[in-house]
Amino acid sequence: MKKGEIYEGVIEKIDFQNKGRVKIKDTTVTVKNGIPGQKVRFMINKKRGGRVEGRLLEVLEKSELEKRDPLCSIFPSCGGCMYQTMLYEEQLKMKEEQIKKLFDDAVDYEYTFEPIKGSPIEFAYRNKMEFSFGDEYKDGPLSLGLHKKGSTYDVLNAEDCKLVHEDMDKILSCVLHYFRERRVSYYHKMQHTGYLRHLLLRRGSKTGEILVNLVTTSQEEYDLDPLKEALLALDLEGSIVGILHIINDSLSDVVKSDETRLLYGQDYFYEELLELRFKITPFSFFQPNSRGAEILYQTVREYIGDTKDKVVFDLYSGTGTIAQIAAAVAKQVIGVEIIPEAVEAAKENAAMNGITNCTFLADDVLKALDYITEKPDLIILDPPRDGVHPKALPKILDYGVERIVYISCKPSSLARDLAMFEAKGYRMEKCVAVDQFCQTVHVETVVGLQRKDT
Ligand code: SAH
Repeated sequence: MKKGEIYEGVIEKIDFQNKGRVKIKDTTVTVKNGIPGQKVRFMINKKRGGRVEGRLLEVLEKSELEKRDPLCSIFPSCGGCMYQTMLYEEQLKMKEEQIKKLFDDAVDYEYTFEPIKGSPIEFAYRNKMEFSFGDEYKDGPLSLGLHKKGSTYDVLNAEDCKLVHEDMDKILSCVLHYFRERRVSYYHKMQHTGYLRHLLLRRGSKTGEILVNLVTTSQEEYDLDPLKEALLALDLEGSIVGILHIINDSLSDVVKSDETRLLYGQDYFYEELLELRFKITPFSFFQPNSRGAEILYQTVREYIGDTKDKVVFDLYSGTGTIAQIAAAVAKQVIGVEIIPEAVEAAKENAAMNGITNCTFLADDVLKALDYITEKPDLIILDPPRDGVHPKALPKILDYGVERIVYISCKPSSLARDLAMFEAKGYRMEKCVAVDQFCQTVHVETVVGLQRKDT
């Protein structure tokens, strides 16, 4: 097999994450972005050691698992909802098998693998979406939506995105047509010229409160009042509580703010989870699937077990959701989070919910553990995608607590960390996949680790 050669074959299975396996004689080629059972054509694009990778060119035959027609106009080019033609039960079954294999390969002791927990709603579950401005093809009309799979430039119109509430689709259409009619430019990443960058929408699933954030450069100036009026006139199920104009002149493609102008209302919205209320600002992290997050947090509560009179550390605490859920019966909870804005929100949320035994620190976990004087009885870890920093993990393990609950949105990082846990005497006692990301290749996992001599 050589780079550039084209083959055809059937995707036998998909390992986590998005790794389709196609057998060609004695070689297993990894081909991403498929569904088990599809006959595909692909081109060999990488060969390293014994590993061969192919880039999918075309699906030649559908899989038997594809029991429904595509649900939106940009499948499969978008790449966001790779599994949308599979029924949700079958997506769940596949994700469960993937995670089981990942953990079985990571440890050689017995553990309890619980059945996967699905999201209570399969569609319109995302409370946050970041859409980009661009064009669908070079010099085409203005588009607003999601990047075409594998492309940094082409942006597909996501006017009928099924991952978000219809309100968000209506807002997207309104903004797109408003700027299209006025022939307003979008920001070209290569030339660093143009105006429109992103539309960041957030909508509380429980509260229906919507925050509209338009991100542009400062290269042009427009009167955005007519846009505000058009948005407020939309017939929505929820209601717009704030419209923000965020100026971002940075060269990188991240959504951030150099200056925020309030066009309407307020610069935050509220969401509710497990009877607690949370104030969320445009950039602070909040679990993207609110109803799914309730299942996730209930699982964490169950896995951490009895917290009565105990000191709990919630490391990587974000806006303090888990800390507050654990606080109800604990003696004290200490949350550590690197983004100061999220920590401020966590403190405010705890006060609003009448919780007085939570402390939040704004720092890197790696540094904070050196000066926190309290000793934890239990630890909850919910790190970002890359997992726990390799230098922070030994510090966490050195506390020698009886139980640790590790939540991960990238289970492969968690699986990698399991060896270090084992070396320090911890074993995975039980684990479960909790799906927060229906239709996509992602899945969240919760693992309960127990110190062996306890
Ligand atoms: N537990 C929270 C947030 C989890 S996401 C929830 O369920 O909502 C992971 C969080 O880790 C993010 O808020 C991110 O800002 C934070 N983070 C990333 N690196 C960090 C570090 N080195 N130290 C502390 N927090 C960090």
